[in-house]
Amino acid sequence: MSTHLTTGQRALLKAELELRQSRLDRQLATHQEGRTRAEHARDVLERDYDDAPQRAMDREVDLALSDIDVRELGEISRALKKLDGDDYGLCTDCGAEIPYERLKVEPQALRCVSCESKHEALERKG
Ligand SMILES: [Zn+2]
Repeated sequence: MSTHLTTGQRALLKAELELRQSRLDRQLATHQEGRTRAEHARDVLERDYDDAPQRAMDREVDLALSDIDVRELGEISRALKKLDGDDYGLCTDCGAEIPYERLKVEPQALRCVSCESKHEALERKG
């Protein structure tokens, strides 16, 4: 049994996670609708000039954006699952307690600050 978090803190973090989850859900839905509409508009415009390179670039940006959203959504739903158990708020790498102050800013955080920066350094190296 952890936990360094009080019941009230867990409840707040859970509410925050659910808020972010629904916001991201909406964002992704709008995003996809928006893309469809934009593409339709371009199809109409396309009769006059060829903007294929620009379109390819737009699409790349779009995909990159939704990749980030999808990833964050995954992290959030993982965090929500953990909240039901006892291991929420514990670093997945070293088991240290992640301070409430950090969780407030990033409730889906899986690692303590020092493990997170090590992890990010590794990811950057590829
Ligand atoms: Zn750690």
